[in-house]
Amino acid sequence: MQNQAIFETAKQYIPGGVNSPVRSFNSVGGTPFFTARAKDCYLFDSEGKQYIDYVCSWGANIVGHAHPEVISAVSAALENGFSYGTPTELEVEFARQITQLLPSIEKFRLVSSGTEAVMSAIRLARGYTRKKYIIKFNGCYHGHSDCLLIKAGSGLQTLGNPSSDGIPEEAVRHTLVLEYNDVAELEQAFKLYPDQIACVVVEPFAGNMNLVRPSAEFMTSMRRLCDEHNSVLIFDEVMTGFRVDLTCAQGLLNIQPDLTTLGKVIGGGMPLAGFGGKSAIMDYLAPLGGVYQAGTLSGNPIAVTAGLANLKLIQQPDFYVNLANTAQSLIDGLTELAHNRGFEFCADKVGGMFGFYFSSQIPQSFAEVKLANQDLFNRFFHLMLEDGVFFAPSMFEAGFVCAKHTPDVIERTLTAANKAFTKLSRG
Ligand SMILES: *Cc1c(COP(=O)(O)O)cnc(C)c1O
Repeated sequence: MQNQAIFETAKQYIPGGVNSPVRSFNSVGGTPFFTARAKDCYLFDSEGKQYIDYVCSWGANIVGHAHPEVISAVSAALENGFSYGTPTELEVEFARQITQLLPSIEKFRLVSSGTEAVMSAIRLARGYTRKKYIIKFNGCYHGHSDCLLIKAGSGLQTLGNPSSDGIPEEAVRHTLVLEYNDVAELEQAFKLYPDQIACVVVEPFAGNMNLVRPSAEFMTSMRRLCDEHNSVLIFDEVMTGFRVDLTCAQGLLNIQPDLTTLGKVIGGGMPLAGFGGKSAIMDYLAPLGGVYQAGTLSGNPIAVTAGLANLKLIQQPDFYVNLANTAQSLIDGLTELAHNRGFEFCADKVGGMFGFYFSSQIPQSFAEVKLANQDLFNRFFHLMLEDGVFFAPSMFEAGFVCAKHTPDVIERTLTAANKAFTKLSRG
């Protein structure tokens, strides 16, 4: 069937035709394509059209779609049943490997989505500290639990409001929303609520407002303030974890958080996420402690099997060096082509995650991301899509490469981009 026809039917049976809003192309306009299958760095839609995929399941796909080693591990596991409601040795092995890869994690618990991981980490931080307030940053996304869906007020003095209907003001009353990279505001928040901040939750490289890097001072201040006030520092690495490096963002930034949330890459496309940290904090979780958290499908054997196969593949020599080189050649190429046509354009990358911006300077905050030219982005997106290159359908999303984006694939992407920039420059 044609994408348009499927979309019409989809809208009859699924709200907006999609199971997650960004998939509807709301921000760029037009009809989303419906994927029938994926292989390596490609998606194939219902009409058989091939796309070079820079969304990669929002970063989850890092080894390439339908990797033979992951398929054979999962196929073998399927024979043993899908879910037991008892613990498995697989989960123990998974947690062991995570603690070996990330020194900040002594104990780890599995859940099924990033939303659950962050929601649980925040409850744990509040239970552990016996404090109420949480700090988050404007433009960071931490899943769709109530207390995190909040838009900033104007400055610290005015409280934020829920960014979704259906969330009472009371649910976000203890969430403080600060500007990313604003050290003074962070200091001020701890001054205003010195003994009441349970945790600071942050994307250590932000990837949900396009890619935004933290300044060194921002991160070291955050660590210091949390230490001084006995607040828990939560790195939400659902996106950056094993995406920017094998040591994750915390390794690149050389800062140890108290709790880390992981998702996306750790399941390699399966519903698998988790959170972990020091035993002294993690042991507040039930059944040892009073913080309740549970899940029927948590640590699902098929998902964990896929995760383990994925973890093995990303530990191959030079995996992240190659990934970073791929992303670098993509953003260098795009920038050169855009500048040749006279566009204000810049780009950045961390490991296998990248961002490009129709603006003259790499943004440092959500406010700066918003200054980019949205109209140019949307037209560029559609021209690329027409030519079989799928970038994220919003200028507020980062992009991703996987191990199968070969130099030849990058070359073909840049050929398409050259055509797109040429058309754009003719208005
Ligand atoms: C994707 C994401 C989440 C939410 O994960 P889901 O699996 O979609 O619930 C949370 N935090 C960050 C940083 C993310 O990128």
